[in-house]
Amino acid sequence: MQTVRRNLIAKPEIAFSVLALLVAALPLSGHTQAPTLDVTLLGTGDPVPRVDRFGPSILVEAGPYRLLFDAGRGASQRLTQLDISLGDIDAVFITHFHSDHLSGLPDIWLTGWLPPPFGRRDQPLRVIGPDGLTGILDGLRQAFDPDIQIRLVDEQLPPRGIEFDISEYSADGIVFDEEGVTVTAFAVDHGQYIKPSYGYRVDYAGRSVVLSGDTRFDENLIEAARGADVVIHEVAAAREEMLAFDERIQLILDHHTTPEEAGIVFDRISPKLAIYSHLTLLSSPDSPEVTLDELIQRTRANYAGRLLVGEDLMRIEIGEAVSVHRFQY
Ligand SMILES: [Zn+2]
Ligand SMILES: [Zn+2]
Repeated sequence: MQTVRRNLIAKPEIAFSVLALLVAALPLSGHTQAPTLDVTLLGTGDPVPRVDRFGPSILVEAGPYRLLFDAGRGASQRLTQLDISLGDIDAVFITHFHSDHLSGLPDIWLTGWLPPPFGRRDQPLRVIGPDGLTGILDGLRQAFDPDIQIRLVDEQLPPRGIEFDISEYSADGIVFDEEGVTVTAFAVDHGQYIKPSYGYRVDYAGRSVVLSGDTRFDENLIEAARGADVVIHEVAAAREEMLAFDERIQLILDHHTTPEEAGIVFDRISPKLAIYSHLTLLSSPDSPEVTLDELIQRTRANYAGRLLVGEDLMRIEIGEAVSVHRFQY
């Protein structure tokens, strides 16, 4: 089933008819399909181990590359649902070191090294992230060394395929720039002690997507997202009564962005599509989760543009227009 929201269709239709006229003027032999930037939400959840929303992870397909942004719980299963071999991921970008963003990484790394159908990666897994990444990956190597040693002798797997190719950075800037695909990291504010923490912007063929990472309302994100086609943003919400009963709830909310704040962010950026992922919807036995409709309504206090709540395996194709496709199970 294809889901294409129509509420902001005026602009893409105008853009399309201009393009159609241009294309009509070109000789047929000279016409090739304009490239798209494709984004698939692999996991739209948070640390809660729920079955409908896996841990945070987003696949971006741009030019010849398959790039993974964070590798939360279940990223391997989601890639397998897409028929993407785990060994075919070209690089993994990490936003920050909260475990919900990393716990799927050892699975992609180790299982992507195994023989087909898993991937049989024979080159190092490229991982790009902020300062501190090397220590984490060294720890993973050490933790899984017994498995690695066994498979090297028992299955004769290629030794280079289980290495990491690590790139660390310590400030805002371009962290990947190959074949016309540019990835820019920008610092975000995830709270006083949760540093480093970054979001990413991917640009390719005149298309762009911004991934917020985990953040509070942040002016730096708005600046980095200027002119972006699509903004994928985290969100957190709880009902008023919960705040009164449990002070830890406010602490969690203080590390994230409320729907009202996200509405301001979207309004300032004015993308073709704003979409929520990394949903932190807090609940207790006496206080049910904020519903997805309520999430949208609360965002609408500040933003009137095209807006969706993401779901696992939702695919966003960024071309002349932005189209959204739900996964068919
Ligand atoms: Zn998180
Ligand atoms: Zn976090």
